[in-house]
Amino acid sequence: MNPVAQQKPAASQVVAGEHRKRIALFGSTGSIGTQALDVIAANPDKFVVTILTAHSNHELLIDQAKKFRPQAVVIVEDAKYNATRQALSGMGIQVMGGQQSLEDAAALDCYDMMLAAIVGFAGLRPTLKAIEHGRSIALANKETLVVAGDIVMQRAVEKRTPVIPVDSEHSAIFQCLVGETRNRIEKIILTASGGPFLGKKPNYLVNVKREHALQHPNWSMGAKISIDSATLMNKGLEMIEARWLFNLKPEQIQVVVHPQSIIHSMVQFEDGSVKAQMGLPDMKLPIQYAMAFPQRIPNVFPRFDFAKSTQLSFEPPDIKTFRNLGLSMEALYKGGNLPAVLNAANEISVYGFLRNRIGFLDMTEVIERTMQKIPFIAKPSLEEYFESDAEARNFAASLLNL
Ligand code: NAD
Ligand code: MG
Repeated sequence: MNPVAQQKPAASQVVAGEHRKRIALFGSTGSIGTQALDVIAANPDKFVVTILTAHSNHELLIDQAKKFRPQAVVIVEDAKYNATRQALSGMGIQVMGGQQSLEDAAALDCYDMMLAAIVGFAGLRPTLKAIEHGRSIALANKETLVVAGDIVMQRAVEKRTPVIPVDSEHSAIFQCLVGETRNRIEKIILTASGGPFLGKKPNYLVNVKREHALQHPNWSMGAKISIDSATLMNKGLEMIEARWLFNLKPEQIQVVVHPQSIIHSMVQFEDGSVKAQMGLPDMKLPIQYAMAFPQRIPNVFPRFDFAKSTQLSFEPPDIKTFRNLGLSMEALYKGGNLPAVLNAANEISVYGFLRNRIGFLDMTEVIERTMQKIPFIAKPSLEEYFESDAEARNFAASLLNL
């Protein structure tokens, strides 16, 4: 049975007298978070937001809380806690502060679905907590599955909680699998835009600067995923994400570069038939699909016009130049703690690049050296995943003199 069959809406999603789905929006101040709030605001009869969380942008968090009136907010950065609490006092909103509060908020009873839109490893613990409490997950935070995908999906199955992808490629695959529960997947084809440096070679990339790398041709996204898209690490992380979401073998996952970003990904079945999901690139569509699944919500987003002459083209990725994708494939095939190590080293490298501490190509070097350094564990426990993440982070940071 393919995994979409397990993704039935949880009974807890309809609460007596309240037919709106209660959304806990983790990472509400980010690119995905703010777009999710647009979707919620456009569908007040379907959704209500009950938790908002942010790392440090307390001003935006306060504005969001005043507008959406959640039951609880979390501001992670301690120094912003008092200002947040004062600004929201007398409004009946529980204000929580500090990293641990993310898990405390995930354990609250006031929501049906977590939209996991925190960036990076920081999203893993709150998502696990939500699963432990039987909440459905709309998953944008791919790093959660890259680090500990086997354990996260296993726990979701045990708790019978759906994990519905928000990442556009995975949403595409998920949508292609609806109605195919008895049919085996032969392979999936993840499409990649190629990022801002498609066709470029190392002699060009060596001089690339932060501002240029942040300019994605088709999508407007947070800083970390924009850099990941420029290095093609994003596609590598997505291969690992797909492996766990759809219960695939590494060899069933193919990446193809499709610069127009109209086909968001494809599934090939055992009869050779290929299904694709298409549309203009707009993250609001996969966000609202995950939140409303199994329903589709009408909207007025611009449509792709087939009558206009457009070329849809496809080519293999250049993994000789974009070596991060090759390293991700190595992690995907070897498994164990290697994807967690790759992810941690990547987070540190991207941090270093965004602060102009290292060059574009140095990121690959840091990741490769970290993957060679950290001892391999074939079947890690959750604690061992956390330890591998910490070790890899420390080692990568030492390479950068952070
Ligand atoms: P972003 O940087 O714009 O926002 C990140 C959010 O996480 C912010 O609300 C921030 O406050 C919060 N955050 C950051 N560090 C945190 C920490 N240590 N603890 C708690 N909260 C923290 O990121 P984004 O582009 O919205 O991406 C979010 C996730 O969604 C990422 O995992 C990304 O890979 C994934 N994703 C994003 C897009 C996109 O279009 N932006 C598309 C597909 C998948
Ligand atoms: Mg994606």
